[in-house]
Order: sequence, then C-alpha cells, then structure tokens
Amino acid sequence: MGHRLRGQTVLITGGGSGIGRLMALEAAKRGARVVIWDLSEEAGAAVRDEVRGRGARAESFAVDVSDREAVARVALETGDVDVLINNAGVVTGKRLLDASDADIERTYRVNLLALYWVTRAFLGGMIARKRGTVVTISSAAGLVGVAKQTDYSASKFAVFGFTESLRQELRKERTRVRTLTVCPYYIDTGMFEGVHTRFPRLLPILDPDDTAERIIRAIERGQSQLVLPAFVRVVPIVRMLPTPVFDRMMDFFGINNTMDAFTGRREK
Ligand code: NAD
Repeated sequence: MGHRLRGQTVLITGGGSGIGRLMALEAAKRGARVVIWDLSEEAGAAVRDEVRGRGARAESFAVDVSDREAVARVALETGDVDVLINNAGVVTGKRLLDASDADIERTYRVNLLALYWVTRAFLGGMIARKRGTVVTISSAAGLVGVAKQTDYSASKFAVFGFTESLRQELRKERTRVRTLTVCPYYIDTGMFEGVHTRFPRLLPILDPDDTAERIIRAIERGQSQLVLPAFVRVVPIVRMLPTPVFDRMMDFFGINNTMDAFTGRREK
C-alpha cells in the first residue's frame, strides 16, 4: 500500500539545502504541507518561503537534530507528522588518523543518533493514527565501506540497520506505518564536493532533482528500499566473493579513490 501525499504533513530534517530542499518542493507539488527542520534558520526559512511562493503550505523550525531536548521541544511545536524524512547528514571525509574526535562524534550524533530522537518523537502518533512513513537517507556507503569514510560509512551502515530493524518491529506489530531507506551513490549537491567517479555511465554522480523526485515517488509507492543507481544493487552479490576479490573489484570500480580530491562544503 502506498502513501498519497495530498493533504499530508511531510517533515524533512536538513530541508534547508540539497536534496532536502528539493524533496520539500517535490512533496509540495503533490499537495503536501511541508515542515522544514534545519540547523540553519535562514536556509530553512528560505525553503519555507520558496514552497509558500508556489502556493503550498510550509513551516520551518531551526533545530539541531542531534540535540535531544531541542528535538523534543520543537516536535511539540510541529504537531502531527505523516511522513518523516530523516535527511540531515554530515560528512568528515578524512582518514581515520586525521579526523578529530569531535568530527567523529558529530557524524554519529547527526547521521545516526538523531534518527532515534526524531523518529521516537513522531512514531507513536503515526501508529495511533494508523498511517505514516518513516524515511531514512542511508547511502551506497551504507552498503560498502570506502576509504576516508570510516565515520560516515559506518554511520550509514547503522542507518540501514536501524531502518531494517524498525521495519521488522512495525511489521511484527501489524502497524500500518511503513519505512523506506534510501541508499544513493554520490549526489551533486555540494556536500561531497570534489568526489570523482571512475565509470560515470555505471556509477554516475546523481542529479539532485532526479534523486529527490525518485525518493518522493518511492514514498508514494510504499517502497521499502531505494538504491541509486541500480548498479549499486550488485554489492550484496559481490560480497559473496572472497574478501580479497571483493576488495580488488571495489578498486577496479575506483571506489577507494572517489574521495582523493574531496573538499566537501567550504564552511568546515
Ligand atoms: P546538504 O549538505 O546539501 O544538506 C544537508 C542539510 O542538513 C543542510 O541544510 C544542513 O544545514 C542540515 N544539517 C546538518 N546538520 C544538521 C543538524 N545537526 N540538525 C539539523 N540540520 C542539519 O546534503 P545533501 O547532499 O542534500 O545530503 C542529504 C542526505 O543525503 C544526507 O543524509 C547525506 O548523508 C545523504 N547522502 C548524500 C549524498 C551526496 O553525495 N550528497 C550521497 C548519499 C547520501
């Protein structure tokens, strides 16, 4: 069973930029009321105004999703949510010995622990109203480890496990609440500025608009998993090979060189 978005409230964390912003515009186009949560008050408000400018309903709140108390407080102000898109994320992009302790902790607090605080704030209401979709944005790096991503990739593996476990709980309890986890390869939003892909036909750097639209469509269809591009779906099969062969295949596809010239966003 899918989830029609008309008249539904869609909350997007990290909705102030990148695919978060584009998913907000896409959901609004389908008649949803959009709520943006972002660390940056200005970025969130700008997207809210952009959505309103297109004639749809929108709110925005400045909140750090890794701050448990702030999440609880702003969740009360936000009210009921039908579709929760846990999208806020950060990347360090450094070798294990070069990352600071603070970088590593921040990756886990934002990419992983925040999912607990935010999802727990809204899930009870969804179960009670017998409808809802919880979306998490994992990554292709949530399916395969990548050099210079010891914190990022591990946090995204955990996002995958979080969502799969939650899906099993919700199925077991026969709720009508669904989950969707999304595992995209690199997307051209600026978050991973400088990354390089070796075979752009098989593993293209994804277009942000197209990615956002596919995620919204997957929610509407009631899909549980979305892996982009489709080629990334071979990863679990390649994993059945002996590890040295798996490693050499990843090298062949250039995966461990993708981060060589990574700069990421400037403000870091
Ligand atoms: P982005 O950097 O453009 O947007 C992330 C947004 O999250 C920003 O607006 C930022 O202000 C917000 N944010 C960061 N920390 C926050 C916090 N503590 N509380 C609230 N908001 C916070 O990134 P994007 O490329 O649109 O990525 C969105 C999601 O997709 C992330 O979870 C990312 O890990 C995932 N992803 C991105 C790529 C890629 O190549 N860009 C690939 C796979 C997965």
